[in-house]
Parts: sequence; C-alpha cells; structure tokens
Amino acid sequence: MPGERELVLVGAGLAGCLLAILLCRRGWKVTVYERRGDPRVKGYESGRSINLALAERGRHALEQAGVLEAVMRQAVMMRGRMVHGRDGPTRLHRYGRDDSEVIWSVHRADLNPTLLEAAERAGAPVHFHRRLHTVDFDAGYARLIDDRDDQPHDIRFRTLVGTDGAGSALRAAMVRKAGLVERTEFLDHSYKELTIPPAADGGFRMEPHALHIWPRGRYMCIALPNDERTFTVTVFLPNQAAPGSGDPCFASVRSGAEVRALFDRDFPDALPLIPDLERDWEHHPPGLLGTLYLDRWHLDGRAVLVGDAAHAMVPFHGQGMNCAFEDCLAMVEAMERHGSLEAAFAAYEVERKPNAAAIQAMALENYIEMRDRVDDAGFQLQRELELA
Ligand code: FAD
Repeated sequence: MPGERELVLVGAGLAGCLLAILLCRRGWKVTVYERRGDPRVKGYESGRSINLALAERGRHALEQAGVLEAVMRQAVMMRGRMVHGRDGPTRLHRYGRDDSEVIWSVHRADLNPTLLEAAERAGAPVHFHRRLHTVDFDAGYARLIDDRDDQPHDIRFRTLVGTDGAGSALRAAMVRKAGLVERTEFLDHSYKELTIPPAADGGFRMEPHALHIWPRGRYMCIALPNDERTFTVTVFLPNQAAPGSGDPCFASVRSGAEVRALFDRDFPDALPLIPDLERDWEHHPPGLLGTLYLDRWHLDGRAVLVGDAAHAMVPFHGQGMNCAFEDCLAMVEAMERHGSLEAAFAAYEVERKPNAAAIQAMALENYIEMRDRVDDAGFQLQRELELA
C-alpha cells in the first residue's frame, strides 16, 4: 500500500502540474498520470483554447509555486480591450490607470510544458499515455489504459486527485461509487479557433498589448496575442440562429465560402489577417461550452477533484484556469492545516465551492447579458474577460 504522504494525480494539465509542484515542495510524494503523450516530445495536441488570459489570482498561485517568472517570460501584456467596430474603427478600453492593472496572454502550448518541467524538477514523475479508466476505491486499485495499444496498467493508491478536466474520469468513478450529483448545462453557443500569423517582417499584425474584441451582439470574435507574434482568434456563434434573426450560426456557416462571407460582412478588418481562414474553419470542429454543477468534490480522504473536473465554466470571464490555480493553493494550504486528508478535502471544498459557483454564475451572466442586450454590445463586452 502507498505511504500516508503519497498521492496519485490524474491529469497533467494546468491544475495537475501546478498542484504537483506545490505538493512536492511541501514534502508529499506525488505521481502523475496523463492520458495524452508528452507535449515536449511529440508536438502539442491542444484541441482547446490555445491561449489564456492570466489574471492576478492565477499569478499569485504560480508565484507560490516558484514558477511565475518562467511563465511570465512567455506572456504578453494586455492593457485593455481593443473594441473593433463593424466599420473598422478601434477603441482601447484600458483595464486600469496604468500597467499595474493588466492581464496577460499565455499560450497553453508554452504554459503546460513549463509547468510539466517544473513538476518533474520538483520530484513528481509524470507518466504519459495513461488514461484513467476505472477505479476500485475500496481495494485502492485504479486501471489506466494506454490508448496506443489498449493495454491496461493497474496501480495502487491511497488517494486519487482528479485534475483531469471537464470530462473527468475520476469524477465519473466518484459518481458511480458515492452517488455524487452532477449536471452539465451546455450553452447554445460554441466556438472555433483560428490563427493570425506574424506579419511579413516578423512582427504582430495588430496592436499586441490588447485583448481584441469584435462585438456583434449575439455573436462575437476575440483575439489574444501570443509571444511568437501570432494571435489566436476565437469565434463564438450560436449553434442554431433564432428564427428570423438572420444571425450566423454554426449550422449555417459550414464551408470556407460561408465563413469568408461572414467575415466579409461582420469582421472585415480581421479578414485579411487570417490567410488560412477557410481551411481552419473547415478542419476545426466547434468546441462546446458548458457549466458543471457538482454537489460534492471529494470522497472522504480517498478522492478529490480540482479545477475543471470540479467546476468547468464558460469562458466569458477568462477565469477557469485562474480559478483552477487558486484551487491548488487552497488545497495544499488546507492539507497543512488539517491532520487528515478527509478533513483537509472537506475544508478545501467548503472554501472553494462557493467561490467557483460565484465565478461560474458571473461568467454565465456575462454571456446572457451580452446575448440579450444586442444594442449595448460594446458596453457589455467591457465586462468580458475582466481583471479578477
Ligand atoms: P485541463 O487543462 O483540461 O487539463 C486536464 C488534463 O487531464 C489534460 O492534460 C487531459 O489530457 C488530462 N486527462 C483528461 N482525462 C484524463 C484521464 N481519463 N486520465 C488521465 N488524464 C486525463 N481560463 C482562463 O483562466 N483564462 C482564459 O482566458 C480562458 N479562456 C478559455 C477559452 C476557451 C474557449 C475555453 C474552452 C476555456 C478557457 N479557459 C480560460 C478555461 C481553461 O482552459 C480551463 O479552466 C483550464 O484548462 C482548467 O485546467 P485543468 O487542469 O482543470 O483542466
């Protein structure tokens, strides 16, 4: 049986890596299992949200783990929102009076490997190609599968930590074992990501120190800068348009020609900046957006959920990762305060669940207000992706 200060983390994403670092620094023995391959070896299979807005809450947790400096080397400062009107004019709405009140754009493909490196350096082995499949909580066995050859790998554990994201397999096992009540409410909007490459001279094609927004009422585009001089553009559209609205939607904008016509009409200044628009649109499936409601986050001292696995949210406040990072800090602090893991996990849940629920609600509220107050879209978008 593993020792009392040994934990198994499932998922080497953003929360998993940060938590591993924080735990190792406090003397815990941590082993991490990750479904995907090592992004440092075989190139990054991101699939979702390529760059992320990092706010003060997230930065504080990174600082406590001693990795802030390494992360900030790859971050691009965003001083405010650059709002793109339909006819072309842009306006910068600053987040604060000066550069002490800004948010930062970080590329997931930089951030995850940086945190992985730091986790390994802190002493946490990370095993790739190990997807959590089933858990026997009573016997303390978990089965992991290597998706390359479908081979099972069984491990023993005392405590499992689910940092395996919105579709958490550990959460599913906890639901089966202990009857946790979960519900995911999906929005009737989805998103697609596109890329603005560097300019011919190697520089940025737009103002780099801003979060660009093209508000169009019930739909919109945003673009965040990357330190390699690119922008990641995210297009949010309804899945189906309201009858008679004439709005574009994923059901009606499918082909390259249709997306070109959409950009030509609604985002004309962005159109010449995205040379692979048609190809990217046709090849990238729309991503779903949902809010996870879960009544309990832990199963006594044997399992606990962190980050999206506990509280996935829609991205309209840019706070999912920041909130996941805060969870990690709250968890290790609770573990220091309490004698048993069960008590620590209970305290962590009591502290973090209302906070996560509040951020989830604010993110949804922003989405709903933005969708309904079409005439005031510019105003509503000022509240988007705000400073924490
Ligand atoms: P993930 O980052 O999803 O990591 C989960 C890890 O677990 C992955 O590595 C996965 O491969 C692994 N895994 C999954 N299943 C298994 C399994 N069965 N076994 C083993 N491993 C497994 N947040 C912000 O703070 N700012 C933003 O600007 C922002 N923008 C966003 C934009 C969009 C469009 C979206 C969709 C989200 C955005 N978010 C943002 C939210 C942010 O992406 C998430 O909150 C964050 O990634 C959560 O981290 P996590 O570690 O909990 O989960």
